[in-house]
Amino acid sequence: MAVYSPSSTVVTVMRTELIKGFQQLKTKRMNIPLRRWKEFGRKLDYILEEVQNIQDGNESVVQQHIGGGLYLTMSSTHPFMQFRQFYRSKEGDLRPGSRGFRLTFEELSELNVHLSAFNKLIPKLNTIRMCYENPGHNELRCMECYVK
Ligand SMILES: [Zn+2]
Repeated sequence: MAVYSPSSTVVTVMRTELIKGFQQLKTKRMNIPLRRWKEFGRKLDYILEEVQNIQDGNESVVQQHIGGGLYLTMSSTHPFMQFRQFYRSKEGDLRPGSRGFRLTFEELSELNVHLSAFNKLIPKLNTIRMCYENPGHNELRCMECYVK
């Protein structure tokens, strides 16, 4: 299972797993800045609809931007939701990087149940102003919207 830990600047998602073939535990973690966590919350209903779609056996490829280089990705061939860090290649394409954190659909639906209670532990979430709420916001010049 994944564990979520709130702080004043990030939400840390982490999981400890036994590495197959080694008698060793490894903890994977990823820090998600609060504004991206908030954007994740806003997109969660859509993500859960797509999870249902995939579980019903339909084809689906999901790639949702939640800010900076961070995306939510999943597909019928990779039935997990991933927080995945993307980067822009020299050629100018957007590419998935190696940094990511995977949630099973079961974990995602569990998170959905607890998300509003969890988010209440982070009062700052309510006062964060999203970049696109600012007047004169320009997506191409915005550090959150445009992936460098
Ligand atoms: Zn923006």
